Amino acid sequence: MEVVTTPAELRRRTAAWRRQGHRVGLVPTMGAIHAGHLSLCDRARAGCTRVVASIFINPLQFGTGEDLERYPRDPVADQERLRDAGVDCCFLPEPRAMYPRGFATRVSVERGTERWEGAVRPGHFAGVATVVAKLFVATGPCWAYFGDKDAQQAQMVARLAHDLDTGIRVVVCPTVREPDGLALSSRNRYLDPESRQAAPCLAQGLRAAVAAFAAGTRGAAALAEHVAAPVRDQPLAELEYAAIVHPRTFAPLRRADARSRALVAASIRGVRLLDTIILGAPAGL
Ligand code: AMP
Repeated sequence: MEVVTTPAELRRRTAAWRRQGHRVGLVPTMGAIHAGHLSLCDRARAGCTRVVASIFINPLQFGTGEDLERYPRDPVADQERLRDAGVDCCFLPEPRAMYPRGFATRVSVERGTERWEGAVRPGHFAGVATVVAKLFVATGPCWAYFGDKDAQQAQMVARLAHDLDTGIRVVVCPTVREPDGLALSSRNRYLDPESRQAAPCLAQGLRAAVAAFAAGTRGAAALAEHVAAPVRDQPLAELEYAAIVHPRTFAPLRRADARSRALVAASIRGVRLLDTIILGAPAGL
């Protein structure tokens, strides 16, 4: 596996592959690679003939007081995992390579980003959109793989790819979970043993909403209550939001249908976790 550290090198590498007739897959990550990330790499390997995975803890998407400094960093183990997953090239830039002195551009996607993560974390989505736009420009036309766990982000990225005529196909991949339902996340490393035991309450709420939907409940308030209840009942958890939303606009709904999405965000002893599911998902959780 080749390692490149500047956008210019990445551009040269992917342009050469395209000239040779390869389809390039891109998997953007912030590292602390886990099986969720590796599932995106597997999908990229299946759909493309060359795969780039990026590891970059993007300072622009962290607000003041968030966990930028303590975000898990493990570049050596990460590179091993990516190599074992068949990734051809790891893009591992320093912040200075992405944001040299004088950097002054922000990309912002205006619709679908106002609520939920956009409201709780001001500036977060503009930070994500800016780094993703830079990765897209450097990689060029490709298939880019994102996780459904961060559904609002994936929807925003699909909009960005379309609106900026990037020629990039955004592929959204299912959430990988622990056996007890907890969605894999780099931030799960922060959970102490008690918090780890409490953390599946988000998935339990989503599962309860899927079951209620399957049993005929359509009122969004009642379904959102199913999502919220196990989180509220968990003493270590603090609920931020639980909602039933439109799958593209993320606007809150009054009545749900099979494509509607349940969202939940909560902190477990200060560790912020997100989860989501489509209510009519045939496999559930
Ligand atoms: P992150 O490193 O957390 O920024 O995540 C990088 C990519 O992996 C994003 O597209 C995430 O949505 C995706 N991802 C994170 N957790 C999971 C998971 N449990 N299952 C599938 N994809 C995931």
